[in-house]
Amino acid sequence: MRYTITSSKPRFEPSVPDPRAFTLHVRYSISEVPVNNGYKPRLADDRVGYFFTKAYDYDRFELDGTVVRYINRWHLEKKDPKARVSEPKEPIVFWLENTIPVEYRKGLRDGILEWNKAYEKAGIKNAIVVKQMPDDAEWDPADIRYNTIRWVSSLTGGGGGAFGPSWMNPFTGQILDADVVIFAPINFIFSYNVFESPLSSLFFDDGKTLLPGKISLWYQDNILLGFERDFGILDMLARGKIKDIKDVPEEYMYDFLKFLSCHEVGHTLGLRHNFKGSTTIALQDLHNTKVTAKESIGNSIMEYLPSNVAPKGVKQGDYWQKTIGAWDYWVIE
Ligand SMILES: [Zn+2]
Repeated sequence: MRYTITSSKPRFEPSVPDPRAFTLHVRYSISEVPVNNGYKPRLADDRVGYFFTKAYDYDRFELDGTVVRYINRWHLEKKDPKARVSEPKEPIVFWLENTIPVEYRKGLRDGILEWNKAYEKAGIKNAIVVKQMPDDAEWDPADIRYNTIRWVSSLTGGGGGAFGPSWMNPFTGQILDADVVIFAPINFIFSYNVFESPLSSLFFDDGKTLLPGKISLWYQDNILLGFERDFGILDMLARGKIKDIKDVPEEYMYDFLKFLSCHEVGHTLGLRHNFKGSTTIALQDLHNTKVTAKESIGNSIMEYLPSNVAPKGVKQGDYWQKTIGAWDYWVIE
């Protein structure tokens, strides 16, 4: 369905090319709720950080009423139930949307596949499969039958630059569909020079100096993580490791994108944030690659880990959380 919305008082909106009017394409996707498919709901437990679905069970007659809370998770079953480690009957399939810049796809793909380590430890090998949406695909990424990593040009959406929503069976918490949305401005400064962009007068008085009062909220909100990424880049520039932002090592962007997709996909596996994950590696070990080789800079990818910049006199270690950590293994199990 298409709605064309017009405004009698147009004002500047960074996501809309022409603020006088825009066309909104709304898609309704209706699907059947699976019934008796062998999925066993699991009761939520405050000690384990899962999102949950609140359902009403009218057969239940307890003091606390008819409400039951089930964790949100996928219906993964071993193909060979007797094997310690088995492939799944049906893997979780994620598609990389065809709008994702080609050079960013590998990092995003590897971030998704990182979770297979946790599933394998829990007994399911290759639980997640990643596919590339072809350029001539005839399906819509909003289609409930496709889990996707989307790349959208909106400048105003999303909290820190990306989010990972999913849709559940309202009776059981079984996750039926997930679509991670990454907002392109997460690559704002990296992908084009903001100093020379038509929007630069919004943020800079002379084209060079940031104007805190002029940075509108949407800008701050949307590239929060982008700022973190740029902080690492500024560090490399300041230390003379690179001479220009065009020289940012591929590995740096790879690690950043891998971290980003791994975190967001973690949400679509049912996981909440873990804001203790940064406390497990001692401050003095944050750049000690012998210590960080195993779990990187925290013990959960579901933490909000900023870029890890070495203090003066310390050799730089990992800028980003490069792997899932002990907590992630545990919750998936
Ligand atoms: Zn998050």
